[in-house]
Amino acid sequence: MKAAMFKRLNEMAVAEVAKPIAGDGEVVLKVHDCGICGSDLHAVRFGFGMPPDSVMGHEFCGEIHEIGPGVIGYRIGERVTSLPFIACGECERCRRGRDMHCVKFRGLGLGQLPGAYAEYVVCGAGSLFRVPAKLSSREGALIEPLAVGLHGVKRSRLQPGSSCLVMGAGPVGLATLIWCKAMGANTVVVSELAPQRSELALKLGATAVVNPEVMNPADKLRELTGHRPEVIFECIGVKSTLSSAISMIAIGGQIVVLGVCMEEDQISPATCVFKDITVDFTVGYMRDDFQETIDAMASGLIDAKPLITDVISIDQVPAMFQALSRPTTQAKVLVEFPH
Ligand SMILES: [Zn+2]
Ligand SMILES: [Zn+2]
Repeated sequence: MKAAMFKRLNEMAVAEVAKPIAGDGEVVLKVHDCGICGSDLHAVRFGFGMPPDSVMGHEFCGEIHEIGPGVIGYRIGERVTSLPFIACGECERCRRGRDMHCVKFRGLGLGQLPGAYAEYVVCGAGSLFRVPAKLSSREGALIEPLAVGLHGVKRSRLQPGSSCLVMGAGPVGLATLIWCKAMGANTVVVSELAPQRSELALKLGATAVVNPEVMNPADKLRELTGHRPEVIFECIGVKSTLSSAISMIAIGGQIVVLGVCMEEDQISPATCVFKDITVDFTVGYMRDDFQETIDAMASGLIDAKPLITDVISIDQVPAMFQALSRPTTQAKVLVEFPH
């Protein structure tokens, strides 16, 4: 089968590899769609100890193609998505729904287990979620990145009718915006530099989008609501963005950090203390966030389809990774397989 893999720093390649077989407790999916994630781009840029020839891709939807020994409750042809890892389901962290921090965690698509930039991928049956017929496989591939936004918004104190600021309109920022609106936020100001992404944010329900080089987004929110942001979602993750969130937040407010800044960064603890604020850091999602995302998509509470800006074939993956390594206008790029 064809698969897109990490070759060396800053280089992806497409190659023929052996089609996988389902082991005990596993299923093989025929992949329909798989999204390109910011963490894939980070991993190809920085390596993170990922061995050469690692098949990447962890945001996917497909149909069950083969069922391994000991798997019950699924049948061939059913459409599913999967948590992008296999967890033991038994350790104390798994029992608290924190499968992502399982002591026996094995991740898909980032160097441990092969991912879904491939015609077929192996998943643990315990990691699967059914995708309702209402949802396309393209939408199915958005469940994972949307669950990230949901996890962040659930961590916040956002109330129906309240307001917030979302920093960054990349896929994480846009997913966060979608959930802020779904949770009933009245006013959501988004800060973003790229005009195309700003347009997308407006389409997804942002009250206003501000270019932070032109106007302070907190001033925009004050103009609209009469006060500074009480909740800020930091969805950029580069040096100094946390510090600007701290300078913009209202007294007693809350910052939820979803952006992943890979460098050491500086903040002023004294400013945090004197403003009496809370800063929460989040990663990924809990198991429940996945199902909640599926239900919200199926009921029409959220419509994430506008997030998809590009659909490409597996052969276009290496060139797309090159294109995405520079500042980009794309939101979610999906790799689609004939199905
Ligand atoms: Zn991802
Ligand atoms: Zn576990």
